[in-house]
Amino acid sequence: MEMRKKRLVFLCLTLALLSSCALDEPMVQTDGEAEITEEIKFVALTFDDGPHAGTTERLLDGLEERGVHATFFLIGSEIPGNEDLIRRMQEEGHQIGNHTWSHIRLAGPSSSQAEEEISKTDALLTSILGKGTYWLRPPYGQVAEGIEVRVPMVKWSVDPRDWETRNTSQVVRAIVEAVQPNSIILLHDIYQTSVDAALEVVDTLQKEGYCFVTVEELLANNDIVPEPGILYRTGTG
Ligand SMILES: [Zn+2]
Repeated sequence: MEMRKKRLVFLCLTLALLSSCALDEPMVQTDGEAEITEEIKFVALTFDDGPHAGTTERLLDGLEERGVHATFFLIGSEIPGNEDLIRRMQEEGHQIGNHTWSHIRLAGPSSSQAEEEISKTDALLTSILGKGTYWLRPPYGQVAEGIEVRVPMVKWSVDPRDWETRNTSQVVRAIVEAVQPNSIILLHDIYQTSVDAALEVVDTLQKEGYCFVTVEELLANNDIVPEPGILYRTGTG
């Protein structure tokens, strides 16, 4: 048990360093590790349905200013013309994933169409960013059995329904009221109101000791080794 705790402490510290999280205390080598770990609460912001010139760019500026890493699940058909934005996401340490080519429901009868929607976006991401594992967020959070998915999949645990209200303060309130350590927050960076809400949420939660990491980092932090074809709901499993 003692060994396990030590390992977790180390992992948390490594992640905090990698994701340049703002910590109240200056980073130290070995002294006070346990103290720092107790203060850090990890959380993941995820953005679906982009990229969208303008709003996504403003979001990236705001995240960069705040030293925050997020995860973007992109619609393939929205990528052409926005390649520079995608490269910027990668350069600035964000995780980039797949949200199908045309936002189809992966519950339909034709698995070959579904698989093509996933592989076409994967191929475009690979051509822009290089070889990688581009995780999938199935639109509507659903994927039918029989559809072959060769990467890990991620759902969410906090949904402020930003696409419905399009109201910054309502979205902020919904997230801040529901958030817990290891939450995966769902937002859409195609709306100005959602971008404003995301940045306000970062400012609020960073003051409460939250540290924003990518989904991949969040799962690793919980000792979860992501497997292809499995739909993960939250960092706590
Ligand atoms: Zn979507």
